[in-house]
Amino acid sequence: MDYYGSQISKLIQELSSLPGVGNKSAQRLAFHIIGMPDDKVKQLADTIVSAKANVKYCKCCGTLTDKELCDVCADETRNHKQIMVVENSRDLAAYEKTGRYKGVYHVLHGVIAPMLGIGPGDIRIKELLIRLQGDVDEVIIATSSGVDGEATAMYLSKVIKSAGIKVTKIASGMPVGGDIEYTDEVTLLRALEGRTEL
Ligand code: ZN
Repeated sequence: MDYYGSQISKLIQELSSLPGVGNKSAQRLAFHIIGMPDDKVKQLADTIVSAKANVKYCKCCGTLTDKELCDVCADETRNHKQIMVVENSRDLAAYEKTGRYKGVYHVLHGVIAPMLGIGPGDIRIKELLIRLQGDVDEVIIATSSGVDGEATAMYLSKVIKSAGIKVTKIASGMPVGGDIEYTDEVTLLRALEGRTEL
């Protein structure tokens, strides 16, 4: 039964397809949007379309950026011989917030997850191996502490070591799921400083 009219139902359906938005939240958001002034709704819609059109992947590390090279990769004062491998751009941002890491990053955009059919070829490992043909002293693996994160770390350490490059792993993995915001900077720094060679 369509209680609200098909346009509102469609909006609720679209919103509830977003991660973390259940049906109740979607309804709340939909009614909020309908109640917003026209120009605010247009601004919101335009911002979404424009972000999608203009955000791309850094051609070096793969993080989300609106430039060819992200700010970290473009910064010549950083140590480009030290590469930290993270699962996503949120993890990169968490380490950047500490302001203490001076190397660069490589963003995998996922982890190896055999149960979900995600293999090494499905995340940005090939791009990492290409970068390793350059001058690299150390690769720091900072994948999450879950089963898939650990499996990814193990896979990476094997292929990187066989390239003759030092591989280290942060002391405790990044927390699994989108809870990076709740990992305080001290914990991240401790994990980084306590990293061990694999
Ligand atoms: Zn970059």
